[in-house]
Amino acid sequence: MRIFDPHIHMYSRTTDDYEHMATAGIEAVVEPAFWLGHPRTHLGTFLDYFDYLLGFETERAARHGIRHLVALSLNPREANDRKVSAEVLERLPDYLDRPGVVGVGEVGFDDITAAEEEALRAQVEVARRKDLNVLVHTPHRDKRRGTERSIAVLREMGADPDRVLIDHNTEETIDLVRAYGAWAGHTVYPVTKLTPERAVNIMQGHGTDRLMVNSSADWGPSDPLAVCQVAREMRRRGYAREEVQKVVWDNPVAFWRQGGRAKL
Ligand SMILES: [Zn+2]
Repeated sequence: MRIFDPHIHMYSRTTDDYEHMATAGIEAVVEPAFWLGHPRTHLGTFLDYFDYLLGFETERAARHGIRHLVALSLNPREANDRKVSAEVLERLPDYLDRPGVVGVGEVGFDDITAAEEEALRAQVEVARRKDLNVLVHTPHRDKRRGTERSIAVLREMGADPDRVLIDHNTEETIDLVRAYGAWAGHTVYPVTKLTPERAVNIMQGHGTDRLMVNSSADWGPSDPLAVCQVAREMRRRGYAREEVQKVVWDNPVAFWRQGGRAKL
């Protein structure tokens, strides 16, 4: 079984995690830019973070035989610092041309503010210009409304739903993403978000086309082996091996290879 985690923040994880991931069969990951847990107040700290993801973190993954791909963005929460966000958005396009970059993300809404919407629009536009995928974060609070707003912006801008992955879906949002036609990501967490059982329930209700699961492992309670747990739960429920493989490898590969940046 080949395994791909299409959303994980290795920046906040240890080398032991890489060891466990490689042992469990994880061969590739996408690491999107996220909020570090503390506001960045200078342009330079964003640029150092982007360089870190494309350099040290990619090499650290490679030492464990894991392919590390990157999505870069100004994240939704930090869009609200208008001075820094304007500077980041000006520099971001150059970074998107770097090897290893496969998308723009995470973008979307956090508090659902006007500044967040402006940053979302600017980044959907630059993704189109650079022929990159877009990874959309859905908010923790007001998740359904945040998802509706993101889809409304994407539709209005004429984004191709095939190049959009809307993430952190739950039972509350999956119908919106299905109706829009984008790819649907599901985050499995030990405490909040979905359990492996709930993720598989969603598959039973909505099928496995354009569907993927991820760990979104970061600083909080999270598990870098969450995708493996979903594979196990699918097998327990009697899914054929091919369909498990479709969810944990084929679908993320089909999505992230678009644009030709990732040779997977
Ligand atoms: Zn994330």
